[in-house]
Amino acid sequence: MALWITDECINCDVCEPECPNQAIAMGAEIYEIDPQRCTECVGHFDEPQCVALCPVSCIPVNPSFVETREQLLAKFHRLHPAGASTPPGASAGASPVPTSLHDPAAA
Ligand code: SF4
Ligand code: SF4
Repeated sequence: MALWITDECINCDVCEPECPNQAIAMGAEIYEIDPQRCTECVGHFDEPQCVALCPVSCIPVNPSFVETREQLLAKFHRLHPAGASTPPGASAGASPVPTSLHDPAAA
C-alpha cells in the first residue's frame, strides 16, 4: 500500500527530503504523498523512511491503495529503470536514518 499523511502533520519538513521516490510534496495545507510514487520504500530501505522519521506518527497506510510487495517492487522498477540511486541524505555505507534521530538517547 502507498502511505498517506493525516491532518495531524505539523509541516516539520523532515520527511520530504528523505523520500527516495520524491513522493512527498507540500499540498494546500500539509504535506501529501503521491500514491503513484510511494513504494513504502520497497527497493530502497527495509522500512518506510517517512514513518521512521515523522515526529508525530501521522503517516499510516492508505487503504485506497492496497498493493502487494510485488506490486510495490514493480512500481520501484518503473520509477527507477536504472536501479536505485543513492537516496537523498545518504552516503555510501552510512545508515539512511540520521544517527541523532535513530538514537533513543538523543530523543
Ligand atoms: S514510504 Fe518511502 S516512498 Fe513512500 S512516501 Fe514514505 S519515504 Fe516516500
Ligand atoms: S515528518 Fe510528519 S509531521 Fe513532518 S512534514 Fe512529514 S508528515 Fe508532516
